[in-house]
Amino acid sequence: MTDTGIREVIVIGSGPAGYTAALYTARAQLKPLVFGGAIFVGGSLTTTTEVENFPGFPEGIDGPDLMLNMRAQAERFGAEIVEDDVVSVDLLGRIKEVTDSAGTVHRARTVIVATGSGYRKLGLPNEEELSGRGVSWCATCDGFFFRDRDIVVVGGGDTAMEEATFLTRFARSVTVVHRRSALRASQVMQNRAFADDKISFAFDSEIAEIKESNGMLGGVVLRDVFTGATRDLDATGLFIAIGHDPRTELFEDQLALDGDGYLTVQSPSTRTNIPGVFAAGDVVDHTYRQAITAAASGCAAALDAERYLASHT
Ligand code: FAD
Repeated sequence: MTDTGIREVIVIGSGPAGYTAALYTARAQLKPLVFGGAIFVGGSLTTTTEVENFPGFPEGIDGPDLMLNMRAQAERFGAEIVEDDVVSVDLLGRIKEVTDSAGTVHRARTVIVATGSGYRKLGLPNEEELSGRGVSWCATCDGFFFRDRDIVVVGGGDTAMEEATFLTRFARSVTVVHRRSALRASQVMQNRAFADDKISFAFDSEIAEIKESNGMLGGVVLRDVFTGATRDLDATGLFIAIGHDPRTELFEDQLALDGDGYLTVQSPSTRTNIPGVFAAGDVVDHTYRQAITAAASGCAAALDAERYLASHT
């Protein structure tokens, strides 16, 4: 086994939570080793275009540029960032072990988990290509870009109703597409959506096709789940609200998860159930799922790790 020594901190993840944890621990002279992922370096914001709600950029900034800036800022203070996946972890002992894709075991006194959460996709052609070009998973992030548009929201749960209701602030019309004949959302969320004149419903329907026009969303084709009949629906916005999958497979036999698979922490701290292991960002957060809230909890995780190290040496 290659002896890589014992680090103070290993960070897993290179989204806003991971890079902010890296920045803070680097400035605290803890020389963090950051696993950024093999293909997803920079995290979720690298899949979008303009970010207008991250403070400090009055004209907005491209998602990939924002993440390159965060990376450069962490590296400036000595964070070592490797573009590789962690394939297994052993977090139970006082010294934690993190194994990379080449099988090398890296050891550290603390680990900060910031692996994020993926939006569930429909799995249709054009879906990924049109992300940021009419297709979105986040009304809070992108609703503002859809003024006076006809928008489709896919899903029948609380998130879908919340997104649909929020989008009526900007949209000309919102059509909620749901595979079943009744919504899953709580009654209060349903009532709010049913009472909104701008929202209509296509029940027992699914998206059969996402159409592209000049590089932007050009409408959708709906399919009746019972008859198979299809129809075109004009739309220049498609919001997919069918859930999230926190990236917790690596940790599920060691760290405590809630019923939805998110890591649980001892709020308001970022401490997990294992001493020396901290978690931050969307892998913990059901509720806010924003770059700034992920960054904030990455900062908190770094400060929690610093305090842990100070009291355990
Ligand atoms: P992520 O950014 O998801 O990063 C997770 C990181 O973990 C990635 O680097 C990944 O490579 C790494 N990782 C996972 N597993 C492993 C492993 N096994 N080994 C090593 N690394 C691993 N928010 C806003 O505030 N404003 C917006 O305008 C906005 N627009 C968005 C547009 C899109 C298309 C999407 C998808 C999201 C958007 N968001 C926006 C939400 C925002 O991107 C997230 O809330 C934020 O990125 C969460 O940060 P995070 O660090 O927790 O996770």
